[in-house]
Amino acid sequence: MGTVYLTGAGPGDIELLTVKALRIIKEADVIIYDRLANPDILEEAKNGCEFLYVGKEDSHHTLPQEEINELIYQSALKYETVVRLKGGDPLVFGRGGEEGIYLHERNIKFEFIPGITSAIAVPEYAGIPVTHRGLTVSFRVVTGHEAKKSQSQIPWKNFKSDDTIIFLMGLHNLDKITKKLIEVGKPKDYPVAVISRGTRADEKTIIGTLEDIYEKAKDLPTPALIVVGRVVNLQSQLKWFEK
Ligand code: SAH
Repeated sequence: MGTVYLTGAGPGDIELLTVKALRIIKEADVIIYDRLANPDILEEAKNGCEFLYVGKEDSHHTLPQEEINELIYQSALKYETVVRLKGGDPLVFGRGGEEGIYLHERNIKFEFIPGITSAIAVPEYAGIPVTHRGLTVSFRVVTGHEAKKSQSQIPWKNFKSDDTIIFLMGLHNLDKITKKLIEVGKPKDYPVAVISRGTRADEKTIIGTLEDIYEKAKDLPTPALIVVGRVVNLQSQLKWFEK
């Protein structure tokens, strides 16, 4: 029986892969990877390494999670070194925990290899620090996928403060998210950024307010994330990658 490495691929720029992830990828017998993991990383694998693509675009999974779990398990019965490669960090909306539990229940050895999460690195490439002395004392990373549900578990009422809020998987709900935040009392001119395809050559950032960002950014290509907070204003001084 093999070992499964639940591995973060980083946000896109291939150089944001960790040294540890790169070492395990070079040793892998099979790599099971998502849409968000930069496929150029696969070129680092040894000859004969098997590649299994399991897709996953926000909620439109190519393979249902249960089948992905089973595929990882079956791979561990067959191979010594199994890499499960995921965009960003495997445990930030990455379902790495579910995969770990599935393996634990079947007595398969696994390790987590953290990755640089898009939640922090993508704003950083856009010139937006998630915290900044004097502007914000904390940041939250929130799923934007739930905003359309009537039974949303998101604590919207807590979002009145000046915490930086980073929504992942939220572009399709941008209209609902901004309306909710205005509803709970945030000013209409509160700063928002949408960053599309962050850390990649075609990264694009659009800056706006809760009131106008939807019209400005709704057609941006995915993956994209939303940053809400006073820190967004720093982009005028800290922009670097898109220059
Ligand atoms: N585990 C990942 C997040 C998975 S959820 C991580 O830690 O980064 C998928 C969401 O992440 C996307 O819908 C998008 O909101 C965000 N995302 C991932 N890569 C991105 C990128 N390069 N640019 C912008 N957003 C990205």
